[in-house]
Amino acid sequence: MLEELDLTILQSRSMMHRIEVAMLSHDEWLSKLYRVLICGGEVLGCEYTAADAYTRCGFGQWMAGLCLGNPKLAALPLIQDIGFLHRRMHEAVAALLVQHAAKPLDAESMSRLYDEVIAKRMAFRWLVTAFDHQICFQILNTDPLTNTLGREKLIAVLRREMEEIQRTSGRESLIAMVDIDYFKRINDTYGHIAGDRVLIEVTRFIKANLRPTDLVFRYGGEEFVIFLPSTSLTWAGVLLERLRQQLSQYEITASAFAQPLTITASFGVTRLLGTGSVVDYLERADQAMYQAKAQGRNRVVVA
Ligand code: GH3
Ligand code: MG
Ligand code: MG
Repeated sequence: MLEELDLTILQSRSMMHRIEVAMLSHDEWLSKLYRVLICGGEVLGCEYTAADAYTRCGFGQWMAGLCLGNPKLAALPLIQDIGFLHRRMHEAVAALLVQHAAKPLDAESMSRLYDEVIAKRMAFRWLVTAFDHQICFQILNTDPLTNTLGREKLIAVLRREMEEIQRTSGRESLIAMVDIDYFKRINDTYGHIAGDRVLIEVTRFIKANLRPTDLVFRYGGEEFVIFLPSTSLTWAGVLLERLRQQLSQYEITASAFAQPLTITASFGVTRLLGTGSVVDYLERADQAMYQAKAQGRNRVVVA
């Protein structure tokens, strides 16, 4: 899933732009093919007929760069499907051109091959559009300050997980509500910009100390939700307790601080089940977090 790639808004926007450019260069490539079919004349070269033509066009080069630069992104099923259909479209174009060059022309097989090109092109375009929408949703659901995910995505991810729990017997997943202790004091003492710095550093630290499949969402100002998929309650307890301790020792530096600052956070944990509403689970985690506050803060409470 795209959310596991932890892309920044800038990275996502740049990816959208590159896809657009690659698709435009593809349109240009196809318009030459249409010209030959409609007007005749020009003979199209190996960028149309070679077996590896799909690696030579702008889109193919973008895909190749993507596979090299970001293996996790390249492994996404949607990206794999796009790559597959792109290749099939190129193969359909090559088959059409071979037939077009053959004399005499067989009108029936020509129209069959042309329909094949159009069908592959449409399917390819639909998938690219679907991917574009996913990136767009990701951008709209990423907090620009902390680069954590937003609430809409949180609800969607937890709903999907509850379905997964229903389907898979024995699957355990958890959520933890995390609230920074006495955060207002930081703003009051050092100013809002310094407070922002703390939020950025804390979320970076949390992400760096979780597993790649765990996700962090910004729930409110200085409140975050950690989603731990496929994790037992015992293991989550160990993981979050270790995170709490490490976080309390993590030294945050900023120009506003005369010396490095440390903060603590309170954690409320609850297990997701396959039934009930997502909001109820968030409420339970929130209540557990408030218990942690009431018990003196800087602790993990399981509901
Ligand atoms: P507690 O230990 O009970 O959680 O106390 P607290 O001070 O952390 O909680 P409180 O709810 O009183 O204060 C949270 C503060 O977080 C208030 C608000 O101004 C600040 N805040 C919320 N969002 C942001 C932000 O994006 N940047 C900064 N700098 N501060 C923020
Ligand atoms: Mg707080
Ligand atoms: Mg709070």
